[in-house]
Amino acid sequence: MIVVKAGGRALLSNITGIANSIASRAKTLGGIVFVHGGGDLVSEYSSRLGIEPKFVTSPTGIRSRYTDLDELEVYVMVMCGKINKEVVSAINRFGANSVGISGIDGPTLLAERKKKIVIVDERGRKRVIEGGYTGQIVSVKTGLVSRLLEEGYVVVVAPVATGTEGEALNVDGDSAAAAIAVELRAERLLFLTDVEGVYYEDRLLGTLNPDQGLEIASKIGPGMNRKLMLAARAVKSGVASAIISNGTIPDPLSALDGSRGTLVR
Ligand code: ADP
Repeated sequence: MIVVKAGGRALLSNITGIANSIASRAKTLGGIVFVHGGGDLVSEYSSRLGIEPKFVTSPTGIRSRYTDLDELEVYVMVMCGKINKEVVSAINRFGANSVGISGIDGPTLLAERKKKIVIVDERGRKRVIEGGYTGQIVSVKTGLVSRLLEEGYVVVVAPVATGTEGEALNVDGDSAAAAIAVELRAERLLFLTDVEGVYYEDRLLGTLNPDQGLEIASKIGPGMNRKLMLAARAVKSGVASAIISNGTIPDPLSALDGSRGTLVR
């Protein structure tokens, strides 16, 4: 069984290639769970609806996107609706049977949000505000996904989780994929993104062990740092190997043979 995650840029520019690549291996890999991203499309629909993106700055100076209730609604609509169903349709079109769920279904992904957060306002003063609707995954319940895999479905998961009070939460797709891979003891975790793999000191890295992965993750840029850290931690937690590779090529799952991308094992 393998878990594949594709970020929004790779997926939306190459939905046909990714869907075909998944569908053609649906019967041979012992089951595929596919987690998608799509944050850029959420932003596009939010602005179409007149919702301005909001950012907050933490006391340590880190600026991050803030999901308020209005934006959460758009997040759920676009992730669970538009993107999830387009992916399911595309995979089905290539002859596999797939089912689209979100982490809310089952429930599959349980997360926690911070109810209050400290921010620094425009005048440089610290303020406590209502936490946004972004959550950290705390557990994965695999019942629903396992049943669907047993029935032969490719399971397409939107990165939305259930919070402790039953609220929907925006969760990071990479973290969702890694958590599902660990909980299901996947053989492989494949992160498809818009670059060939992890670059360090001007070269593309081939094979790393998990400790090397964690060390390099602390020295590289945003986006890839988290992916590499999650890949390394997943391998430490029992996933046999994790690959970070290019999702924009014609057959992205060909990276499973180890011939491209960055492999952690
Ligand atoms: P996705 O949306 O595909 O999941 P992210 O934006 O989270 O991807 O992470 C991938 C991005 O990480 C790349 O597009 C690249 O710009 C950035 N990045 C930062 N540092 C590195 C690095 N050392 N090697 C490769 N990519 C890096």
